[in-house]
Amino acid sequence: MIQIKNLSVFYRSKRENIKALNKINLNVHNSDICAIIGPSGCGKSTLLNVLSGIITEYEGEVLLDSKSLSPHIHKIGLIPQNFGLLPWKTVEENCLLSFKIKKEKINSDILRKMDILMEKLNIYHLKKRYPSELSGGQKQRVAIVRSFLMKPDILLLDEAFSALDAIIKEEAQELFLNIWSENKINTFFVTHSIDEAIYMGKKIIIMSNTPGEIIEVIDNPMFNNKKYREEKKYLELYLHIKNLIKKGWDN
Ligand code: ADP
Ligand code: MG
Repeated sequence: MIQIKNLSVFYRSKRENIKALNKINLNVHNSDICAIIGPSGCGKSTLLNVLSGIITEYEGEVLLDSKSLSPHIHKIGLIPQNFGLLPWKTVEENCLLSFKIKKEKINSDILRKMDILMEKLNIYHLKKRYPSELSGGQKQRVAIVRSFLMKPDILLLDEAFSALDAIIKEEAQELFLNIWSENKINTFFVTHSIDEAIYMGKKIIIMSNTPGEIIEVIDNPMFNNKKYREEKKYLELYLHIKNLIKKGWDN
């Protein structure tokens, strides 16, 4: 279980002190997939950066199974908006990067799992290519293989689908959910798309404007339902989320 207790984050500089998150509280069960949505500047990336261990100075507590969340004890997978691939490494080398960094042995099981994931995501034939030779959608799939291969305790995506164009995005969302369903890794993804939150978020976490607060957490009945747009409840939920986000904008 992930527990966030009274989390506040400040960005301090000589000129000013910016409060980015204000006393966030959240409990999420293991093997949940949570969408984080809210107006621009409300602290979504800040929250993700705390969960990833990039931001270490904060008030409050962030616990994973009752232990303080930390990259030193937990495996944390992060897919940033630009997918975070190293340009001088091939697709295969990028997928195996976290093992190399941790100096862990790469055995035949890992290689086999990598090949299976690559085949599922249709990038097996791109193994020897470099990131500059891939499309955005292909780069994203490499980042997904890399993340699931390392079996993280927690997986974080910061608007990782937003750079993709519409048709590829829908396919990528579906593929991601397929792989997620087989692995059930604790996942948090930031999105500015209400549709993406409704399709991919088992829980939808709605944040408000600066300093960021969580204003509502929704258990989403339309999660992983390909026909969510045809559901009666869809429009109601869509407008509800939209109004909450708009309120954040108006502040
Ligand atoms: P979001 O991802 O929701 O758009 P961020 O988490 O990036 O929002 O930012 C939250 C708030 O903190 C914003 O007001 C932003 O300007 C501020 N902020 C973000 N990063 C920094 C930083 N490194 N230094 C100072 N202020 C920052
Ligand atoms: Mg952001």
